[in-house]
Amino acid sequence: MDLFFDSSILVTSTLLAFFTLLIFHSTMKTNGYLHSFHHLSLLAFITIIFPTVVVGQDTGADFWPEGKQMAISLTFDDGRFSQVQGGTQLLDTYGVKATFYVVPSAVEQQIEGWKSAVAHGHEIANHSLVHPCSGNFAWSRDHALEEYTIEEMKKELSMANARLHELLGVEVRAFAYPCGQTYIGSGKETMSYVPLIASLFASGRGWMDEAPNDPAYLNREQLTGIEMDGKDFEEVLPIIERARNNGFWLILAGHEMGVSGDQTTRLAMLEKLIQYAQKPENGIWIAPVSEVMDYLDNQTN
Ligand SMILES: [Zn+2]
Repeated sequence: MDLFFDSSILVTSTLLAFFTLLIFHSTMKTNGYLHSFHHLSLLAFITIIFPTVVVGQDTGADFWPEGKQMAISLTFDDGRFSQVQGGTQLLDTYGVKATFYVVPSAVEQQIEGWKSAVAHGHEIANHSLVHPCSGNFAWSRDHALEEYTIEEMKKELSMANARLHELLGVEVRAFAYPCGQTYIGSGKETMSYVPLIASLFASGRGWMDEAPNDPAYLNREQLTGIEMDGKDFEEVLPIIERARNNGFWLILAGHEMGVSGDQTTRLAMLEKLIQYAQKPENGIWIAPVSEVMDYLDNQTN
């Protein structure tokens, strides 16, 4: 369910109100009330149109560079093999830079591929050291979020930053919550680790969220991530169009980069998306997460 405001609804309702007034106006011609009603309808029209124009201008579109109407960040999680075995190559063909939230142990297995990704300008970001999620996932029971303390989490996230610096020479600035889960502990001992992310990183991204980010109300530690795995371009396009209507920042999140399959961002979708986004008339700025954050920070300072 989409909860964010769509300005096109306002435009449509204004047009409906205007035509309703026109019908009333022509009805009134048949009796003597025309003169006074003319002024009334003009007044009503201005009353409705004026706020529409004001609201229409007050969207996030004002936030973006060079008259762009929205921003898109392409993000990929875990450091999967396919990301540097076909994925980055497609992005590089079009000169598009993405953000990769990786665990260092995955990078170690494909070190040349990841060095090449860095050389092409892709952002390397933190996705923890051992990918802890709820113990409700059997595969995460050995490092369940329910068993963590803040100190352990802090130590592991710092170790991951240090390791990524060692492997790739990068200064990591962004984080994505494994499984999109933002807590540690259980029961009355449950705590958010969002404050820890605020102290260590410039931003934190979630997963499987419902709506894009409004640059006018940015919760930088809980940026939303919209799933792009398993979708064709025709399914992603309406998400882009609604975000653009509101001037929002759409952070798309995926895993494998390939033809098809489980948790896979389809390369055919990605190519169509990039071609669409690179047409100037579509008003889209594509940039890695931290580049967009820097831009927004400069706008508000
Ligand atoms: Zn993950």
